[in-house]
Amino acid sequence: MTQPLTIALSKGRILDDTLPLLAEAGIHPAEDIHKSRKLIFDTNHDHIKLVVIRATDVPTYVEYGAADLGVAGKDVLMEYDSNNLCEPLDLNIATCRLMTAAIKDAVMPQGRLKVATKFVNTAKRYFAEQGRQVDIIKLYGAMELAPVTGLAHRIVDIVETGNTLKANGLVPMELIADVSTRLIVNESSFKTKYDRIKSLVDALGKET
Ligand code: AMP
Repeated sequence: MTQPLTIALSKGRILDDTLPLLAEAGIHPAEDIHKSRKLIFDTNHDHIKLVVIRATDVPTYVEYGAADLGVAGKDVLMEYDSNNLCEPLDLNIATCRLMTAAIKDAVMPQGRLKVATKFVNTAKRYFAEQGRQVDIIKLYGAMELAPVTGLAHRIVDIVETGNTLKANGLVPMELIADVSTRLIVNESSFKTKYDRIKSLVDALGKET
């Protein structure tokens, strides 16, 4: 019996760019993902299933083998920081930058810098590499508000056009990483389902 191949997709803005890539590789969901409350979808291929989950959960599903493949932003993968995921393909979609930002012309403190972010691990690593002493404050959203309200001196956040920063009186400062969406694969699936995964990677690679 053929084992199913499960692909975990990130909900939200990445999904809109991922579905056309899958379609060009010949994979079509059996129903409209945007109109359904389902979390798991059949496709036009008997053995290929799609699960649609929060972006931050995609590496977890793939690492534990609950999904064989996943589509996730480099920002999410850097934060998850696993050594057990293969990353064979840059899908070159949802490109943006992970940056630090602060209020324009704000004077930074002599001592420890307070940094608000949802990218706690990435921010810790970045400032440690810079040899800077920081206190990281975990937030789940609206990071731009933190410097404006005095919660933090700086934020670490995704910047695409820079409009959100600008609208809140902030300016981008240091580039931490260029971000794009990656295809990730569970290591043991890559061995046990090699031919099917390889042809999917090749088909998606042709579209990027
Ligand atoms: P912008 O105003 O165009 O710089 O967009 C910045 C906001 O959009 C940030 O608050 C981000 O959280 C979000 N954003 C932009 N691009 C992405 C992306 N590729 N992945 C996740 N979030 C993004």
